[in-house]
Amino acid sequence: MITFNNVSKVYPNGTKGLKNINLTIHEGELVVIVGLSGAGKSTLLRSINRLIDISEGDIQINSQSITSASGAKLRRIRRGIGMIFQSFNLVKRSTVMRNVLSGRVGHHSTLRTVFGMFPKEDHELALDALARVNLQEKAYSRADQLSGGQQQRVSIARALAQQPQIILADEPVASLDPLTTRQVMDDLQRINQELQITTIINLHFIDLAREYATRIIGLRAGEIVFDGTPAEATDDV
Ligand code: ADP
Ligand code: ADP
Repeated sequence: MITFNNVSKVYPNGTKGLKNINLTIHEGELVVIVGLSGAGKSTLLRSINRLIDISEGDIQINSQSITSASGAKLRRIRRGIGMIFQSFNLVKRSTVMRNVLSGRVGHHSTLRTVFGMFPKEDHELALDALARVNLQEKAYSRADQLSGGQQQRVSIARALAQQPQIILADEPVASLDPLTTRQVMDDLQRINQELQITTIINLHFIDLAREYATRIIGLRAGEIVFDGTPAEATDDV
């Protein structure tokens, strides 16, 4: 469902972020991308929803090229891809509910959502998404009153409210302690299994990757140096 054909990324300063990547990710996989800082994990992940434009090659989502898409087509493809960041990217002074509802904005053509007016069905979807990360009771708390782990789970609920086919998580646990790391990874795994949402997670800990992934991809200096099952992944991946 996600295919990279000869994908390279060269940043304007000449740094090579990705070198001739060929890769197919199938529906329902939970892929963890591992590698040292600077290996290209973030570049690879962000090129899937075109937060980063690639320099060469083509990326297809369900047989549609996101590389050449624009306008309404690009927006439609992006609507199917939920994104989770290391730093949560919540609107801190808004409620949890408002943050989760923001995942619905792209689904409406009217301006009403810009002013925070969402239909009743969206509120139901948002509550359902919060239930999947066990935070229904926090729906009307302010986002910045939650712990880091809870905020990250709100950002997972926001991604879910989009009803995505794909979830991308760029170092989602890098700023969390070991206990909350586990809660966030458990939520992502459960959602992957229950909803069959194709999930791609960047991590720099191979141990976590081995525990949660169905497939591990190792990157080094912009190249794939490992692609296999957790059982095949040794410590020097
Ligand atoms: P990772 O996520 O594995 O830490 P990145 O994808 O962020 O790796 O970076 C891959 C390489 O591209 C690194 O050498 C990094 O310094 C470089 N890079 C990333 N973003 C930029 C940018 N905006 N401009 C120039 N170089 C960049
Ligand atoms: P995040 O916490 O969101 O993953 P990063 O710290 O990885 O953010 O990167 C922040 C921004 O800096 C990104 O837009 C990334 O592309 C850019 N960046 C990363 N490495 C470099 C680099 N070597 N030179 C220039 N920009 C970079």
